Amino acid sequence: MASIDTTALEHNLNQVRRLVGNAHIWSVVKARAYGHSLRAALKGLSKTDGFALLDIDDARWLREQGWTGRLLLLEGLFRYEDLASAHDLGCDLVVHREEQLDWLEDAKKTSLKLFLKLNSGMNRLGFLPEAYRLAFHRLHALGYSVNHLSHFANADRVDRSPSVGDQMECFTQTIEGLPSGETCLANSAAILWHRNALGDWVRPGIMLLGISPTGIAQDIAHAGLKPVMTLSSEIIAVQDLKAGDCVGYGGRYQAKQAMRMGVVACGYADGYPRHAPDGSPVWVYGKSLEQTGVICPLAGQVSMDMITVDLTNAPWAQVGYRVELWGRHLPVDDVAIKSQTIGYELVCAIAPRVPVEII
Ligand SMILES: *Cc1c(COP(=O)(O)O)cnc(C)c1O
Repeated sequence: MASIDTTALEHNLNQVRRLVGNAHIWSVVKARAYGHSLRAALKGLSKTDGFALLDIDDARWLREQGWTGRLLLLEGLFRYEDLASAHDLGCDLVVHREEQLDWLEDAKKTSLKLFLKLNSGMNRLGFLPEAYRLAFHRLHALGYSVNHLSHFANADRVDRSPSVGDQMECFTQTIEGLPSGETCLANSAAILWHRNALGDWVRPGIMLLGISPTGIAQDIAHAGLKPVMTLSSEIIAVQDLKAGDCVGYGGRYQAKQAMRMGVVACGYADGYPRHAPDGSPVWVYGKSLEQTGVICPLAGQVSMDMITVDLTNAPWAQVGYRVELWGRHLPVDDVAIKSQTIGYELVCAIAPRVPVEII
């Protein structure tokens, strides 16, 4: 079960506010709010200035739930047919390629607010500087209100190019002298580590969930963020192993001495990483939910519906004991790093079959 703590979301949004001063906040809730569910995001982030997402159906859903604040489609329109719905739903649009300019010219829905996207060095989406200025003038002449947006490739690290400084220089030069527009720049990493590169609007995603943009939990310890998702399950069997016994598919883990192995009802079909190695941390609760628990190492290949955990550290644990795969007691970053990935990937991959509880 994935428990989503909406008070933690609210707390994290307040922390972001503290960091960004007067900047407005687009809370980025693409990919079902990174696996946390749009419903929970709406509840916990109701004080945000706007929601940024990809899918127009999600925008419609938020409107149906009564959201009257701003909405931003982060990749703009995928098809011309969606322009009318975007307009009717009152979505702001990112504009990142020529075809979208043609659509906007055809439709003349000039009440749409636009965020023109500059490719300032990441080379993923957006117009290069010269094309950017042309696009700006074209939209401006049509009567659209046009804002300026770009995205950083390396706000979470210092040893790669382009740096935030390089991209800021490109951005500032490109928009210089253009007649109007608010700016929109920072993702979570920039909010945390590049406070001079925020823009009038910021776009935090992962930090709202209390997860580190770098993949290292310690890196965000200073920011006072709380984990939002707790993925938990329980022990459904215990095996008493003798020295030499092997566990699970491929017999990847072999007991060195007599030991107890807990079988936990959570596997890769729930979104637990199949490539998690032995030693990946699993939190086994104490005798009551209040009594804290202990970290036990994963031991053996992750299966579709189960993992196996060495219970040496938790001699009290029996069938029925609760286990936390990540969350309140165990940062998802600590699990992800063992599987050579980042928290983003694990929470986004939470499978539809996992029941979600919003608290
Ligand atoms: C996903 C996304 C964000 C949020 O990034 P985080 O690292 O989760 O803060 C911001 N801007 C754009 C364009 C995005 O696609």
